[in-house]
Amino acid sequence: MIITEETQLRILCEEVKTIKEGEEIGAQLLKELSESKNGIGLAANQIGINKRVCVVNVKEPLVLINPRIVEHSEEQFMFSEGCLSFPKKYVRTGRHTSVTVEADNHEGKLMFTADSENINDAFECACVQHEIDHLDGITMFERSVTPQPIRVPKKIGRNERVTITDGKETKELKWKKAQPLVESGDWEMAPA
Ligand SMILES: [Zn+2]
Repeated sequence: MIITEETQLRILCEEVKTIKEGEEIGAQLLKELSESKNGIGLAANQIGINKRVCVVNVKEPLVLINPRIVEHSEEQFMFSEGCLSFPKKYVRTGRHTSVTVEADNHEGKLMFTADSENINDAFECACVQHEIDHLDGITMFERSVTPQPIRVPKKIGRNERVTITDGKETKELKWKKAQPLVESGDWEMAPA
């Protein structure tokens, strides 16, 4: 069961004492994640275990036990995020373009960067930051940034379907319906 009560998600998680304990929680998290429709990451407090373990599954399943971000870039990138604890909500966030992570179950340092040709690197980099935030009782809403207006390409057909977001909700509709909303400035084009 994935926790959706925000008060529960505010709890600061405690370190696990042993790798074994962390691996058991990691296995539960990966199972729960695989049962979700489109989740790419999950933190232990999202399933009611207030311990510092999270998983990310973008390029490969990755369990992080007592993870900490030891270095990060000053530079940030904008990302449209969702969260299994807040179904159907999306937030435009600012995330560090690269982070270096240490975790008890990984020797050395793990590097994540969005500065890559592969879009999955950006997903993984944002996801790692999102999940470690959960362990500190921080949700994606606290990372939201005011979106810059996106210049809409001229050649959208009136009946072409587009996806737009106001930062909370996304809808898919025909451009002729979406255009006035986007031009009002309250809605913007979202990645489909
Ligand atoms: Zn989340």
